[in-house]
Amino acid sequence: MTRFIAACFLLLFSAGLTAQEPEKVLSSIFDEALSDQTAWKHLEYICKNAGGRICGSPAAEKAVQYTREALIKAGADTVWLQIVSVPAWQRGKEKCTISTPAAGKEELTIAALGMSVGTTEKGITTGVLEVHDFDEIKALGAGRVKGKIVFFNRPADNKQINSFAAYGGAVNQRTAGASEAAKYGAVAVIVRSATPALDDFPHTGVTRYEDGIAKIPAVAVSTLDAELLSKRLKEYPELTLNIVSTCQTLPDTWSYNVIGEIRGSEKPGEYFTVGGHLDSWDICEGAHDDAGGCVQAIEMIRIYKKLGIKPKRSVRAVMFMNEEISGTGGRAYADEAKKNGEIHYAALESDRGVMSPRGFGFDADGEKLSKLQSLSKYFLQFNIRDFDKGGGGSDIAPLKAMGALQIGYMPDTQRYFSYHHSANDTFEEVNFREFQMGSASIAS
Ligand SMILES: [Zn+2]
Repeated sequence: MTRFIAACFLLLFSAGLTAQEPEKVLSSIFDEALSDQTAWKHLEYICKNAGGRICGSPAAEKAVQYTREALIKAGADTVWLQIVSVPAWQRGKEKCTISTPAAGKEELTIAALGMSVGTTEKGITTGVLEVHDFDEIKALGAGRVKGKIVFFNRPADNKQINSFAAYGGAVNQRTAGASEAAKYGAVAVIVRSATPALDDFPHTGVTRYEDGIAKIPAVAVSTLDAELLSKRLKEYPELTLNIVSTCQTLPDTWSYNVIGEIRGSEKPGEYFTVGGHLDSWDICEGAHDDAGGCVQAIEMIRIYKKLGIKPKRSVRAVMFMNEEISGTGGRAYADEAKKNGEIHYAALESDRGVMSPRGFGFDADGEKLSKLQSLSKYFLQFNIRDFDKGGGGSDIAPLKAMGALQIGYMPDTQRYFSYHHSANDTFEEVNFREFQMGSASIAS
């Protein structure tokens, strides 16, 4: 009987809460986020003082120490570093020159792809074959490809409304192009940057070599210079290209995930993880990708503490290390969770830039999805409306096997790939209000 009354009371109490309190609580979260500069200063520091934080670098280490302190200052109950094995790769000298009879020598703007093997100081000089997909290389065959530099020039499809789909349609040239070309005897690849923007920024990103296939140097070229190279090839099919890229892979090293936790008031043994990745590419500040996502997680902790919000479950802000190259941070976090027998209720990742919030994507179906979608009513007052099926993030994906609901933070991403993995991804390209509307949405 007592239990029944308690259950009824609980039902009433929660009904009362959902009818009244959430709007007020959420408003106070947005008020706090939009009127405080702490997160903005954190973002500026990570972008300007740590800079290009490729995993295994001193810059990444600096960001680890800085965010650890930021989480302590934010008031997290516990803050710790979790050791992660990471690859170490270093960019070298980079130069790319076209030689044609009429135009003479012209420089192209390039950036080595992450984990690429390097060239000698003199580089590779040979003829170029332009292709747009892997079938084209196959059709050309070893007879044409052997000894050449393969130039992948398939643009991102600007007609795609979903910017991630446009990127997804072009990015296999970067991730797999080197091995595909090497199968037919190519000596290097130069890849059009996977961005819809036409500009002078080369966009790097990881390239992956297939086992048993010769590793050949791989570089990205800016989209404007891809257009130029294509034009010159039409004029002078016999032109030669010199690529110098003296990058090198160093032995694996150690780095850290940075974790801050607020202990749950009712179910401390159940966890809700919120995070982004702390590493970035070496050639950029990595403001949108993904210092912004990391700082939004820190900001959630700060806001809860400042406003006295006590989550029922334990909430963690996690800055994952090495998302960009091989995802060891996300896996180390899930492995440790499994070892400790933790229950992972849900996980949210912000890794699509920090533009204006549109909503969230949920990896859920049926009744669970409907229940999550019913929460969208509390967000309408902030013009946040998209509560859709499908979402997550690569760092939180390993938690899925432990039952954690996967949630992706979904900002407007039309500009994201103009910044992504290029020197154009700077603090200046972030807008305070858009960024903090995102922090508040995530905290909410
Ligand atoms: Zn990212």
